[in-house]
Amino acid sequence: MPKGIDADADALVIGAGPAGAATAILLRMAGWRVILVEKSTYPRQKVCGECLSAASLALLDQLGVGAAVRDRAGPELHQVGWMSGNSILVADLPPCTDGPYRYGRALGRDHLDAILVKRAIELGVILVQPGKVRSVRGELGDFECDIIMGAQECADPGRSQASVIRRVPIVVDAHGSWERGPEDGTGVTSRMPRRGSDLFGFKASFVDATLPQGLLPVLAFRGGYGGLVMAEDRRLTLAGCIRRDTLARWRGHLPGTSAGAAFEQYLRASCRGVRESLAGALRSGSWLSIGPLRPQIRLSKPDRLFYVGNAAGETHPLIGEGMSMALQSAFLLAGYLMAQPAHAIDATRALEIHRAYRSAWCNAFALRLRLAAIYAQVAMRPVLSVAVTRLLRNCPQLLTAAAHLAGKARKPAAQSLLFEGIA
Ligand SMILES: Cc1cc2nc3c(=O)[nH]c(=O)nc-3n(C[C@H](O)[C@H](O)[C@H](O)COP(=O)(O)OP(=O)(O)OC[C@H]3O[C@@H](n4cnc5c(N)ncnc54)[C@H](O)[C@@H]3O)c2cc1C
Repeated sequence: MPKGIDADADALVIGAGPAGAATAILLRMAGWRVILVEKSTYPRQKVCGECLSAASLALLDQLGVGAAVRDRAGPELHQVGWMSGNSILVADLPPCTDGPYRYGRALGRDHLDAILVKRAIELGVILVQPGKVRSVRGELGDFECDIIMGAQECADPGRSQASVIRRVPIVVDAHGSWERGPEDGTGVTSRMPRRGSDLFGFKASFVDATLPQGLLPVLAFRGGYGGLVMAEDRRLTLAGCIRRDTLARWRGHLPGTSAGAAFEQYLRASCRGVRESLAGALRSGSWLSIGPLRPQIRLSKPDRLFYVGNAAGETHPLIGEGMSMALQSAFLLAGYLMAQPAHAIDATRALEIHRAYRSAWCNAFALRLRLAAIYAQVAMRPVLSVAVTRLLRNCPQLLTAAAHLAGKARKPAAQSLLFEGIA
């Protein structure tokens, strides 16, 4: 058993992505005793475009990891691009004028997530890694978490693994959204029906690519969308989403080709910008994939648990704001939780926190989710993307305006500023 897991704790956080690690750090900074459980071993790659907005850089400062992130990250992103068919259009990214950073940067998730977890440990968060929260039973004040110790993504499901039952008063679910969360003991399992429109996410890294530093192009192609960016050490990240039916049709022409390799070939065939950026480039590592994605708000009604990051709500990744929302939701929730000592959160207070947090979350992000859904439909449908390309050719400033609306120049949601002095 990891040192400390049997000690008294005020809260257990499920998942050490940006949302879970940030929540653990903030609660610990407020004096809470926190257990953070992560099922995979770090450093690990993750399907993600890896762009951090200017607002995220400011929040990472408040978490005490800003310098470590900026030391390692790629160059500042000053320009936004639109790559659709043979068209390559470029415009300025809007600067964030309210906060310490004007532009975002990109950093591999292997680095970012490890930096956040290291900070959590330094502060005294008890880390259980690898460990998978299999189920959460009970009620606020007395949850029983069943944790499979040593669980990893690749663990043999048939092999019996040691499990530990941990009792905690408060549980924060930050397990993301691309895999089933912990069981809740009700025995109800909901499976989503398979649909041709289901979106699958892919990501790979390349060396010796020729994308200009500081350019953040959006890729628009039939049945999907994506993005390119130069991250740390001139490593290019290519990430995107494609519909199930589009990928299946394309793979039908390429028997024996893996889904990731087929995605890459489809992008090269559909998009001149991808062909030119990857000419002479070498893929480092394999393609990663996840899905299906279901972008939506998940904070529908008060629950026994608290939710942050993608577990609370998810946007189409076209706008590259998922990590920013993950960090901001951690600040929002932690703000409400930290307003009183952990032991003072009874059922009535928890309900108030749920309501206030949900309302703050929706004020901050609901519009962005709707906008991202519209952008995604435009990018994926050739009739619309061709019309938009014509428009952008005549008026590239519209790209700047669209990035502005998507939140690229926005400061973090108001409540996070309450924590300016905390780090
Ligand atoms: C193609 C694509 C491109 C994207 N590009 C960008 C981008 O450029 N910029 C951006 O900001 N966002 C981007 N995103 C979105 C971003 O990746 C997510 O919004 C972000 O990772 C959400 O963070 P999180 O902490 O909520 O969840 P995650 O990062 O998914 O972390 C959840 C963690 O919980 C762990 N876990 C899961 N279940 C359990 C369990 N039962 N017990 C213990 N641990 C568990 C997982 O191993 C994982 O480490 C992109 C997404 C996709 C699909």
